[in-house]
Amino acid sequence: MSKHFIVVGAGVGGLGVAMRLAHRGHRVTVVEKTDAVGGRNRREQVGQSRFDGGPTLLMMLDPFKKLFADVGEDFDTRVPNRLCDPSYRVFFADGTRFDGTTNVPVMTERIRAMSGDAEAAKYPGFLSELKALYEESIPHFVRKNYRSLWDFASPAQLKRVLQHHMLGNLAKRIKQRFQDKRLQMIFSFQTMYLGLSPNDAPWVYATLAYMEYGEGIFYPEGGLGSISDTMAQIAQEKGVQIRLNSPVEKIEGRRVHLVGGEIIEGDVVVANADMPYAQRELAAAAPKRNLRYSCSAHLMYIDYEGDLEGFEHHNVVFGADFDGNLDAIFHNLRLPEDPAFYVCISKRSDPEAAPDGRINLFVLVPCPNLDCPMDESMVNQLEGQVFDRLAKEGGFDRTKVREIKRRGPNEWRNELNLERGAAFGISHDLFQSAFMRPQNRSKSNPDLYFVGASTVPGNGLPMVLISAELIEERLIHEGVIPA
Ligand SMILES: Cc1cc2nc3c(=O)[nH]c(=O)nc-3n(C[C@H](O)[C@H](O)[C@H](O)COP(=O)(O)OP(=O)(O)OC[C@H]3O[C@@H](n4cnc5c(N)ncnc54)[C@H](O)[C@@H]3O)c2cc1C
Repeated sequence: MSKHFIVVGAGVGGLGVAMRLAHRGHRVTVVEKTDAVGGRNRREQVGQSRFDGGPTLLMMLDPFKKLFADVGEDFDTRVPNRLCDPSYRVFFADGTRFDGTTNVPVMTERIRAMSGDAEAAKYPGFLSELKALYEESIPHFVRKNYRSLWDFASPAQLKRVLQHHMLGNLAKRIKQRFQDKRLQMIFSFQTMYLGLSPNDAPWVYATLAYMEYGEGIFYPEGGLGSISDTMAQIAQEKGVQIRLNSPVEKIEGRRVHLVGGEIIEGDVVVANADMPYAQRELAAAAPKRNLRYSCSAHLMYIDYEGDLEGFEHHNVVFGADFDGNLDAIFHNLRLPEDPAFYVCISKRSDPEAAPDGRINLFVLVPCPNLDCPMDESMVNQLEGQVFDRLAKEGGFDRTKVREIKRRGPNEWRNELNLERGAAFGISHDLFQSAFMRPQNRSKSNPDLYFVGASTVPGNGLPMVLISAELIEERLIHEGVIPA
């Protein structure tokens, strides 16, 4: 029998659930606080340049293809995309530049040129090890609803954990493998995508490095925002009602109260708004334990006149002391002295993103969440350091900034309701991963489910799409909807 689902939030997780349930013939209403779909993955227009609002790296295509195929669509047709090669350019403080690629012989040669024969010889074996880790962990630990400890701790699961050293420390294992500090950085920094320090990350998250070096980074035509837009379009084609500018105030049983007094009653509610916020603020349920949070991100969307010589579409800029940088953000909760940051100029792959003579310069600087709020002078200091480095590496000139928009921890919290302004949701440390991560059904309200970055399996567009798969699977398993 057809049911009415109310999805709170039109982020990628909420849209994924809406598509899946509508395809099964259910009635779905999506209520979204802001004036656009996509949540963190929405578009920004600043001056004459178009930007991806948050995510810029399309990786791990499988969950995208699976979602579209499951609802009778083809991802590559609806969202044409292509591989970025080089994946990105890395700028080291010693002046070295390194271009990452999925082409193993070319990558090995580049490692040889930078770090010598011995390091290069390790690369193919290293990549194979990551591939095996990826192939075991995704189906057995990530695409999984944990119903009991046994789902994690069965003999077969434990064998996988031990065989692939999944719980070992990521940074330590990389340091044991490669001696060149620069290689240690480029094979470990990917945990920053989860807002997690590699020094605190379990080895299983080395799968992120495999996604980049094994599978590659892709760019969808029109930017990452095309993914959310197309998902919303398909959802609507299947009858989903998406109501923008409709902030929710309270979830009570199966009733969703909108700000302004309207009440929508459904059979099941799925909260896509950040889980800790949704639990505390909307469902009035105190969390059962203290959660730990990811770091945040200070973003600058710069409509820039001129160009930044030597910068590719994707770029990673490291400071001299990577470990010091990580300690500052994650442990000492202060601004890093020599920050690492990420730069994206999607105009390199997408000429229409900015007019002739301009580039859409996107800069993401990892920073502490609101446990250590930044005042204006701190923001100025951080930006000053970044601008100085951009000037050194690519001739950046502040007088050529035509317009700039910033989004930092306060905006992540105030605009999208991300708890503590933690841009990547709750932390992915060992004790908040897999079966220890807050699961996707409310303990206090049996009609309330959660989808998105702060529940299972975790942060990142592919993970959030898997989160939508897991909701569908759970609803079937619990008999809420037929298979
Ligand atoms: C700076 C940054 C860079 C990133 N880069 C990448 C990347 O390159 N590649 C990648 O794969 N991932 C990346 N990510 C991660 C990715 O963006 C997220 O994991 C994903 O977008 C989260 O989707 P979601 O559906 O869980 O939540 P959200 O996108 O946060 O969506 C939740 C929605 O709920 C709405 N909402 C909140 N409260 C209410 C309310 N009370 N009533 C109604 N609606 C409400 C919000 O407005 C929002 O639209 C990045 C994230 C950030 C912040």
